[in-house]
Amino acid sequence: MTTGTDLDLTALRAHFPLLSREQGGRPLVYLDNAATSQKPDVVLEAMNRFYETSCANVHRGVHALSRAATEAYEGARRTMARFVGATDPREIVFTRGATEALNIVAASFSAAHLRPGDRVILSGLEHHSDIVPWQMACDARGASLGVLPVNAEGALDLAPLDALLAPPTKILCLVHVSNALGTLNPIETICARARAAGVRVLVDGAQAAPHLPIDVGALGCDFYTLSGHKMYGPTGTGVLWGRGDLLNALPPFLGGGDMIKSVTFEHTEYAEIPARFEAGTPNIAGAIGLGAAAEFLMSHDRAAVLEHECALYAHMVAGLQAISGVRLVGTAPGRLASQSFLVGDAPAHDVATLIDQHGIAVRSGHHCTQPLMQRLGISGTVRASLGMYNTTEEIDRLLAAVVDARDMLA
Ligand code: PMP
Repeated sequence: MTTGTDLDLTALRAHFPLLSREQGGRPLVYLDNAATSQKPDVVLEAMNRFYETSCANVHRGVHALSRAATEAYEGARRTMARFVGATDPREIVFTRGATEALNIVAASFSAAHLRPGDRVILSGLEHHSDIVPWQMACDARGASLGVLPVNAEGALDLAPLDALLAPPTKILCLVHVSNALGTLNPIETICARARAAGVRVLVDGAQAAPHLPIDVGALGCDFYTLSGHKMYGPTGTGVLWGRGDLLNALPPFLGGGDMIKSVTFEHTEYAEIPARFEAGTPNIAGAIGLGAAAEFLMSHDRAAVLEHECALYAHMVAGLQAISGVRLVGTAPGRLASQSFLVGDAPAHDVATLIDQHGIAVRSGHHCTQPLMQRLGISGTVRASLGMYNTTEEIDRLLAAVVDARDMLA
């Protein structure tokens, strides 16, 4: 199998049962990894093993089975701490996805720190999950939103950054990697400038975690969120990492079991992190599956995986560029994993439907980034997004399907 790198793609793909699925008599080509990724056998096995051998509720039980479940769940937390470079596993909060993680920060940070007249800055590349919660928070607190602009290529324009970080700004929220355009943002630089201005930074790492080794300390951010199901973990999983002192100073997001020290009808004392933000029975099997996904990723040479993905991406971009009538949307330097494009004046959904007829899954639409689409003057795009298991042959099938779609729609 063509790799162009040292990665053994045949062995890697054998871990993913779904990749052997056929569509229309040909192997399915899955290029919708930015929406969700496929799951390796080790993730499925870890979840099954939990249900078959140690299913019990965590934390509350003294019995052996509950202790086993708790150990597996807390083991997954330690794994996720290692995965993001956190020194303290208590800084890892399990959530049901990036959306919930972003909502926790928006609701709890705004309750503690946003006053009328304060400002929140979002980048122009944000997913709706990092826009709507902040609009809700700003509405509730009498604060306002500012936007760090995007240029026509899809890169952030940092010229107004320092002005936007000036008072009354309290927090800056931005994606690490754009789900719509693949733009990789200079997080370290931005965090350093925010820190100098006394502004907190929330990084939405949903599209970075599957591809880049993450080190929250080196990035210099205050909060980092990721989506488990995009990094080969189960659906309904995600992580919020935050600096311990900051998280412990925020009010809880949800109230209920497990997030308390003591309750009377008059008053509740909240638990410290991570329980503070994990009310109720968590997605225990999901967290264990996510831990297995992170172990799976870390068991590979991540530099080799990234090299493979970058080589494949370059091949895909060059191939799309060479097709007359195709326009790339998102041309910022140093992009990663996702490439958006349009074919002539054809509606993106029509193109994606024709590509699907070739047994190739790509996404079309606004990708939950309507403000970004408005900035670019379009209503949506076709997006092909890579996972670690994709191959050169699959990209070649995509390129042929795009040519066919173009000719059909001409
Ligand atoms: N942020 C980004 C950049 C995303 O791509 C997505 C998922 N498309 C989300 C947030 C939301 O993630 P989840 O579906 O896990 O809540």
